[in-house]
Amino acid sequence: MLLGAKKSLIAWLREQGITDENVLNAFDVVERHRFIPNTVLLNRAYENTPLPIGCGQTISQPITVAFQSQLLNIHPDEKVLEIGTGSGFQAAILSAMGAKVHSIERQLDLFRRTRILLNNQLKIKNVFMYYGDGFAGLPDKAPFDKIIVTCGAPNVPPALFQQLKVGGIMVIPVGDGVQQMLRITKISENEYNTETFGEFKFVPMLQKTVINQK
Ligand code: SAH
Repeated sequence: MLLGAKKSLIAWLREQGITDENVLNAFDVVERHRFIPNTVLLNRAYENTPLPIGCGQTISQPITVAFQSQLLNIHPDEKVLEIGTGSGFQAAILSAMGAKVHSIERQLDLFRRTRILLNNQLKIKNVFMYYGDGFAGLPDKAPFDKIIVTCGAPNVPPALFQQLKVGGIMVIPVGDGVQQMLRITKISENEYNTETFGEFKFVPMLQKTVINQK
């Protein structure tokens, strides 16, 4: 039943303008239902809807994950920084697309649970997880070919721009309440080009780490 639902979702993503075969293939390889902790909601895993993952957070809608992944234009072995690990689904999609993913989560419970899921249960390769504040990025692992932010950012964090390679791309939803999806291409150390891709609604990007948000 879920297999049919997954095929229908992929066909629907195609209709919505997802044309990158690497993205569509990743949606076939990565099973979204494995990332939904609430078993009551499993039968909705292949609907185009965000679903709760605990700690007051959600797994993003499939179209949003597909859209951001397509904007990133991933090539094999690229080093990607993700802000907002959450369920780990977006990181798993990028890994299936051939990227090496470094992903930061600010909530300890979510970080711990997702690390077990990705490393021990799903044994997904090339995803490295960190408990920390995404506003600071990961200076030790910089520079990155690509950066993806999966929470609504108040602005483009300067540290993230700094940690992007020249020629690199950052996909980041910016705004309060509702966000504009921005694709920022770094042209030189202090020049960039910004394109906008419509409105999206994400949980907010918040400062500092937390042990457990109820
Ligand atoms: N990519 C995730 C989306 C989860 S929702 C997925 O595929 O499921 C966004 C996540 O960003 C939440 O888990 C939230 O706790 C996290 N987040 C918010 N602000 C953050 C910050 N400053 N640093 C790191 N993670 C942050």
